[in-house]
Amino acid sequence: MPIPTENVGSLPRPVRLQQALAAYDAGEIDREALVAEQDAACRDSIKRMEATGQPIVSDGEQRASSFATYPLIETLGGTGLADNLAPDGQLFAVFDDGHHRQLPRLTSGPFRYQTYAAEFVEQAVPLASKPVKQAVIAPSMMMLLYPLDEELPGYPREQFLADLCDETERDIRQAFTAGASRVSIDFTEGRLANKNDARNPWTGRDMLQEFIDLNNRVLDRFTAEERQHIGLHTCPGGDMDSVHSADVPYEQLLSRMFEINAGYFLIQCASERDREEVYRLCGRYSRDNANGVPQVCFMGVIDPLNPSVETPEQVRDDLVTAARHIPIERLGATDDCGFSPFSIDEKPKHGSPDFARDIAFQKIAARVEGTAMASEELGV
Ligand SMILES: [Zn+2]
Repeated sequence: MPIPTENVGSLPRPVRLQQALAAYDAGEIDREALVAEQDAACRDSIKRMEATGQPIVSDGEQRASSFATYPLIETLGGTGLADNLAPDGQLFAVFDDGHHRQLPRLTSGPFRYQTYAAEFVEQAVPLASKPVKQAVIAPSMMMLLYPLDEELPGYPREQFLADLCDETERDIRQAFTAGASRVSIDFTEGRLANKNDARNPWTGRDMLQEFIDLNNRVLDRFTAEERQHIGLHTCPGGDMDSVHSADVPYEQLLSRMFEINAGYFLIQCASERDREEVYRLCGRYSRDNANGVPQVCFMGVIDPLNPSVETPEQVRDDLVTAARHIPIERLGATDDCGFSPFSIDEKPKHGSPDFARDIAFQKIAARVEGTAMASEELGV
């Protein structure tokens, strides 16, 4: 079987859509006008992703406020926040360029999603002539909505975590029911868990094992057959062309991440200084039997934060090197991250979101072509 390849999830939102989001927040346009822009962006995303030759497509998260907040809030500007959430939660991450992103704060129970990713899948499937994938947020990110130390009156942490696992499971199951062929879980908080950044207290609490256990609590509800199609994505962040945890030694995460019983992993690698070391670590720690499912390592061969487009030959060479360390039947190819996980993203290194969008499709096409070249060279 040729080496499989798939994207992580997001694409830059067109400038028109970002302007529509701002106008919607300001009360200048109604929901119908915003949805019309989202529809157009989704149609364009799927059409252009299909044109790259990638065997599976997504809507590029054009309807989501962000990869992490889509269940909670309609826009990043603050429209549509649930009644039991306040905007002033924990910092999700502080990025290397100094900007930060913040999560809402849960003020009372019970915790419920307002929007499930299935809503996006339902609208994407009729537009696509290829199988559709959907990214969802990990329970380990959503657990940061609950205060780090205090208990909420009348809503103990354990009850919150039980509700959270139910909601995450529902999010994944409904995405499959709506027609998704694959669902990948965004786990950007994995590497950040060992950042020890004083500005962001949860990153100094050694929460990685707690994160891993919580993800397994959800994944253990799925059969091995189902988990073949449930992935997990790790990265050091990717927002405003900047990262949040590339300085955390990767082995701290990679030596433990494969304890998570997912069937495949979308692993940032192209932007690492020593890519071969990452292949080696993935070869060493990934398992051929994670509660009944082999773990396929989709290695990042594309850097979405860098506007220069990788060549198919570079992609091929990276994968051929990776195959020296990772069994070929458990090797795949992906991008280091979504191309724009937050709906409002200026893409400063690219100059503009529209240009970054064009570049993203060129990069995906290079990955698809380079992956086919690697399969040929490796005889699979
Ligand atoms: Zn990512």
